[in-house]
Amino acid sequence: MLTGIRLKANVTDHQRLVLSQWMGCARFIWNAKCDEYRYHSTYARKYFPIGTFAPIDKKYSHFKNDELSPWLSDCPSKILANSACNWFDTYQNFKQGRCGKPKRKKKTGSGSIYLTRDLFRFEVCPDGVKRLFIGAERNNIGFLSLKLHKGFKEPASLYIKKRHDEFWVSFCYDDGKDEGELLSQADHLKYLRGQSQEFLQNHVIGIDRGVKRPIQAGEQCFDFTPEQKKSMDRSRRNLVRYQKRMSRQVKGSKRRHKTKVKLSNTHNDIANIRKDFCHKASRTLVDQKDSRVFVLEDLRTRQMTGRAKAKKDDSGRWLKNGAKAKSGLNKAILNVGWHRFEEFLKYKANRAGKAWFKVPAFQTSQECAACGSTHPGNRKSQALFKCESCGHTDNADHNAAEVIKKRAIGLISNSGSELSKRGVLSLSDSGRGAMGKSRRAKSSRAPGEKGLPSEYFSDGLQEASKKKKKDRMALPLDFSFEASPLQG
Ligand SMILES: [Zn+2]
Repeated sequence: MLTGIRLKANVTDHQRLVLSQWMGCARFIWNAKCDEYRYHSTYARKYFPIGTFAPIDKKYSHFKNDELSPWLSDCPSKILANSACNWFDTYQNFKQGRCGKPKRKKKTGSGSIYLTRDLFRFEVCPDGVKRLFIGAERNNIGFLSLKLHKGFKEPASLYIKKRHDEFWVSFCYDDGKDEGELLSQADHLKYLRGQSQEFLQNHVIGIDRGVKRPIQAGEQCFDFTPEQKKSMDRSRRNLVRYQKRMSRQVKGSKRRHKTKVKLSNTHNDIANIRKDFCHKASRTLVDQKDSRVFVLEDLRTRQMTGRAKAKKDDSGRWLKNGAKAKSGLNKAILNVGWHRFEEFLKYKANRAGKAWFKVPAFQTSQECAACGSTHPGNRKSQALFKCESCGHTDNADHNAAEVIKKRAIGLISNSGSELSKRGVLSLSDSGRGAMGKSRRAKSSRAPGEKGLPSEYFSDGLQEASKKKKKDRMALPLDFSFEASPLQG
């Protein structure tokens, strides 16, 4: 199985300069390929018969010129060739519909070079430390010292990337494990269906992602440490300060550039804390002995964090729309890194041979874990959950985690449930929001299949929508609305 790792490089001043120059050369070739393609395709469109296309190739040597681009000869030509190759591969991917068209790259603080086998080697130096030698025999930057925090096998190629003034070496290697041995989600589901309810109760963990408690997994709650919270608050205050400062500085000035670097570093600091939290929480969960099946809500973070819609009254005047509150909530949601946590948990669980599923998120925060009744009034506040029908009181996030677990166990043991491509378990005859509807349908069918419970009719539905619902719920055929007392 391929494993990817990223190692931080401790560069010397000379190495920093040379690597940055090489990254610039690689970008120059990439941009030249983009421009060349654009020129040729415009020319072909204007002056050639329809059906003539610009040539797509990996040639780059015609961009090397002693007068116009003398700096290119200082860079190992293999790096330039790799850049042209990368452009070609990206274009092929674009043609297959896997990505967008290769675009020109801007001159920014970040960049990368792609090194193939003949441009690097890992070597144990005389002092016993393993280092990375970069460059050809004649044109090289010597040994790069790396933070080797993990064992690995030597890769066939690697990237050196520059981000926020830091240099990183990233590559993939084969870790020797057989990918075919890992169970797929469908295999896991098949296995779990054969297990007892008790087994499922003990080994399924419902995970609720929230704002107040970022991750509630069963009885466990994961949160940022006080130090992390403090540091994030400070960074956020700094962000505002730098942003204000930058807006007043002259564009293109050195001071503005300095502020810009500070701003980007601050963003990076916050992102690092978030990433650290997600890694640690997912690792702790996956390493637990008892947890075999992880169940998450099927959340659509992108849709949940949209902007507040603008409001207007009849005369066209703008009304308050709560945009500030909404953007605050959005920030709080995005700050936890729900999606990132999900991705980390998935890959870690897969490697550990454990299963993960998602369940529809429909009304998980309003359903009672004890009796199953659903009501918007059940959720008293951000933290408190109190059921209006049975009086069950709990922390809202803990209750939601229990509901998710209950739903998952119900769906796993129900042989009619289906697994979607995205890993969402749902009943096969329904789409989005299926849980609520099917549950209602089930409860309505329960009392001797005589008809719907009386409270079902109390919500003043129109007849047409009643009929639609009737079709969807597949009620017994002898049931008719004419016979219902409400129609008279
Ligand atoms: Zn209840």
